Amino acid sequence: MPTKENLAWQYYRDFHLYAGDLYPNQYNYIDCLRLAEKTFEIKRLAAEKKSHILVHYYLRPEFHEIAEKLGDSLALSKYMREVQAERVDFQAVFFMGATAKIIAGNNTRVFVGDSPKVLGCSLVSGTDHQWISAWKRENPDGILITYINSDTYTKSISNFISTSRNTDKIIAHVARKFPGQKILFLPDKFLGQVMKIRALRLLEQERIKIDPDLIEIYKQPFGGFNACCYVHEKLGRDSILVTMAEHPNAEVMIHPECGCASFCMYQIEQNIIPADKAFFLSTEQMLRRAETSPAKEFIVATEPGMLYALRKRLPNKIFIPVSATAHCDFMKGNTLDKLLRSLREDRLEIVICKNCADCVDPKTPYEDDRVIHIPKVIADNARLGIEPMLSI
Ligand code: SF4
Repeated sequence: MPTKENLAWQYYRDFHLYAGDLYPNQYNYIDCLRLAEKTFEIKRLAAEKKSHILVHYYLRPEFHEIAEKLGDSLALSKYMREVQAERVDFQAVFFMGATAKIIAGNNTRVFVGDSPKVLGCSLVSGTDHQWISAWKRENPDGILITYINSDTYTKSISNFISTSRNTDKIIAHVARKFPGQKILFLPDKFLGQVMKIRALRLLEQERIKIDPDLIEIYKQPFGGFNACCYVHEKLGRDSILVTMAEHPNAEVMIHPECGCASFCMYQIEQNIIPADKAFFLSTEQMLRRAETSPAKEFIVATEPGMLYALRKRLPNKIFIPVSATAHCDFMKGNTLDKLLRSLREDRLEIVICKNCADCVDPKTPYEDDRVIHIPKVIADNARLGIEPMLSI
C-alpha cells in the first residue's frame, strides 16, 4: 500500500492524464490528498465491515480507484449474484442498488450513499405509471418489456426485463412466441426505437412477418423528462456528426440510449456511415470492443465517466468524448464523504420489508435516513423478470 502522499500524487497524475478534459480544474494536489486520506479510511472500514464496494463506470475517477468491482448495471448485478458478500456498498444510482438487493435477497446487506431522489434517474422519474395502467387496460393481453434502467415497481408489473445488450432479442422472442399480441417497450424511447428496428430485422431473417405497429415504444413525456436518459438525449445527431468530421479515422462507439442512435442506424443502413466503423454498444461492450479492435482512435457516445475507465485501461489508444460535459448529476450525486458515512453509520440500507403497513403504496415505499424499503411482494415479482435477464 502506498503512503497517502504517494497515492495523492498518483491521483493527481491519473486524473489529469485520463480525465483532465472531463473534470477541468477539479483536482488540484490538495484535493487529491484529501481524496487519498478518504480512500485509506474507506478501505479500512470496508475491510472491517467485510463490505464489497461496487462502482458504476459513470462515477467520478476517485470511485474507480476504490472499486472492488467496476462495471455497468448488468455486470454489477451479475457480480452481486456470484460474490454472495455479507455486505455491499453499491455506488451507482438507486434503482441499480435496488436491483442488486432483489438479486441478493436477505443474504447480503446492500447500502447506498443517498436517497432515491438524489441518486435518481430521468428514466425512473419520467415513467408515468398511470399511463402504463391505462395501456394495460386497453391491451389486457399486451406484453410489457421493461428496460433494466427503471424503477422497481415498473419491473414488478412487467413480463420481461431487458438490457441494452438483449432488448432486440427479447422483443423478437416475444413477437415470435405471442403472435398478434401488442408489445410495449419502456421507458427509453431512443433505445426502444433502435431495438425495435433490430428485432424486426431478426424476425425478417427468419422469414417471420409481423405488423410493426404491434411493437409500441413508450414516448410519454412525464415529470419534466422525455421518456429517455436526459444525459444520452444530449448526444444528438449534430454533436456526433461534428465529432466524426473532426476525427475521420476514428471508430464510433454509440450507446443505444443516445439521442443520435436511430439517426446513426439510418446512416449506417444507407452506407453514409460505414457499418464496420460504427457500433451500438453497452458500456461494458465498449470496453471489450476497444480492447479487441485494431483501431487506435475511438469516438465515445456515452456519459463521460466511461472515458476515464477506457483511457486508464488502454493508455495507448485515443478516446474522444462526443461531449465531455454531459455528466449524469444523479450518478455524480455519489461522493466519498457519503460512502464514508454509510460505512461508519450503516446507512442507507435497502431492506426488503414484509409488505409492511408503511408501504401501502408500492410506488412510494417507506424511507427515512437509515433505511429504504422494497415491499416483499414487489421484490418477488420483480425478481421473476430480473433472474432470466441475468442468464442471457
Ligand atoms: S446516465 Fe441516464 S440512464 Fe443512467 S442514471 Fe443517469 S439519467 Fe439514468
